[in-house]
Parts: sequence; structure tokens; C-alpha cells
Amino acid sequence: ATYQFIGKKILITGGAGDIGKATAHRFAANGASVALLDLNEPKMADVAGELKDYNVPVGTFRCDVTSADDVAKAFTSAVEQLGRIDYVFNNAGYQGVFAKTDEYPEDDFQKVININVVGVFHILKAAAQHLRFGGGGAIVNMASYAGVVGPPNMLAYAASKFAVIGITQTAAKDLAPYGIRVNALSPALIGPGFMWTRQTQLQAAVGSQYFDAEPKVVEQQMINSVPMRRLGSLEEVANGVAFLMSDEASYITGFNLEVTGG
Ligand code: NAD
Repeated sequence: ATYQFIGKKILITGGAGDIGKATAHRFAANGASVALLDLNEPKMADVAGELKDYNVPVGTFRCDVTSADDVAKAFTSAVEQLGRIDYVFNNAGYQGVFAKTDEYPEDDFQKVININVVGVFHILKAAAQHLRFGGGGAIVNMASYAGVVGPPNMLAYAASKFAVIGITQTAAKDLAPYGIRVNALSPALIGPGFMWTRQTQLQAAVGSQYFDAEPKVVEQQMINSVPMRRLGSLEEVANGVAFLMSDEASYITGFNLEVTGG
């Protein structure tokens, strides 16, 4: 079964990345217009090029989500170009460095919080203002299973994703009167993709008791921790976003959907 989004309009942050791109494909294939926001303009242009085949309006907007000013401008431009916005996928994020707590670098902690928490706040606030005047809509904030159970060597990332789940619960309450649903999505091990490769290499390099020093062995250790014994695909993450945005989820808000294989 597939949800249809004909005539709907979705704004996706981190639209140049793996999950943003897979979600853009999913929504465009089902009839939605797409506004991509990202820092990476060349990659965003590539994604927009791929979406041409679906014959739906697609816009790209350079935006640093850590800047409230950038976010306000990108939203205004996206609304001008697409007419309105129904769905916002608040997805841009950064994994941080991998280091033990006693060695976690100060500047990277700030950077992770700035992108994953302050950035999510900026997009959420702008989304609430725009969706409210369109008569409602739905927002999905990208959290992570690292925001449910803190993994080793990912102090800032865990902090940031726990925060996203808290933000989601409060925003769902605040925005319910406006007909805006707000949910979170928490994937665990997803791949192939940039973050999967990066985390196996960096967990191996930290040299902790939790993972082998060889990235290929780390891959297997991680997969063995999943009850379904495989990675989730980017499409399976996009399926979760589609469900939470769709009218099938019309009575679901403030929820964190785990996409983890168990
Ligand atoms: P990715 O690195 O491929 O994509 C992230 C995108 O965010 C990139 O295109 C990057 O340019 C953009 N971005 C980073 N900082 C930005 C900023 N300040 N302003 C605007 N854009 C910015 O990673 P992904 O796997 O597609 O991850 C997307 C989201 O999913 C992230 O929030 C990530 O934490 C979360 N997540 C990913 C996984 C996974 O295994 N891939 C698992 C759980 C959660």
C-alpha cells in the first residue's frame, strides 16, 4: 500500500543527504511538490535533477538551519515558489565525532547541539508559523534510536536526539490547537549510506571495549545487535516519514516512531 500525496507540498531539510533524498523521491513519486533545503548546493541540485522524472514542482533553497535568518528566508522563498507547505521533514543533522566522554571535544559538542537541536528548533518554529496559516499540516522531526538508548562514544549526538524527542512532545501539545501534528522518527542502523560507513569506521577508530578495531568487524557486530539481523534501508525510513505525514496517522501526534528492526 502506498500513501498518495497528490497536490501536497513537502519541505525537507538535509534534502541533499541520504535520507532526505530517499524521502524526496518517495513523496515526489506519490505526487507531492518538494522544497529541498540544505547547505550542500551541488548535491541538492543533483537530487533536484533526479526528481525531474516525477513531473512535480521541485525547488532548492540553500539554508544553514543553525541560522534563524537563513531559515526564515528559505521558508518565505519556498512558500513563494510552491504556494503553501503541508508537510515539513525536519531532517538535517550531524553525527558528531566519536570519542569517549572524558575526551569529547568541547567545540564539536557545541556544533552537534547547534545543528541537531537549535537547527531543529528554527525549522520547527518557522514550520509552525507557516502551517498554522495554511490550516494545519504535519511535521516529522528526525531523531534517532541514539535518542532512546545512548550509544557509546556519541555523547553529543545522544544528547541532541534525546532533545529532539522532548521537543517533539512539547511541540505536539503546543501545536495541536492549530491542526498541526508533530512526530519524531528514530532509525537505528540504516544503510548503505554516509552515516553507516562513517560510524563503523569511527567506532573502530575510538578503540573502546564495545567495538572491534576493524570497521568490517564493527559492521557485523552492529548488525548482530539487531533482532532482524540486517540494516534498514533508506526507503524503509522514508516509509516511516510517509506514514507519519499521511492522513492514516491523523490521530497520532507527539509520538516517536522507532524504525530499528526490533
Ligand atoms: P547525511 O549526512 O547524508 O545528510 C545530512 C544532510 O544534512 C546533509 O546533506 C548535510 O549537508 C545537511 N546539513 C548538515 N548540517 C546542516 C545545516 N547546518 N544546515 C542545513 N543542512 C545541513 O545523513 P542522513 O543519514 O541522510 O541523516 C539525516 C538525518 O537522519 C540526520 O538528522 C541523522 O542524524 C538522522 N539519522 C540517520 C541515521 C542513519 O543511519 N543514516 C540513523 C538515525 C538518524
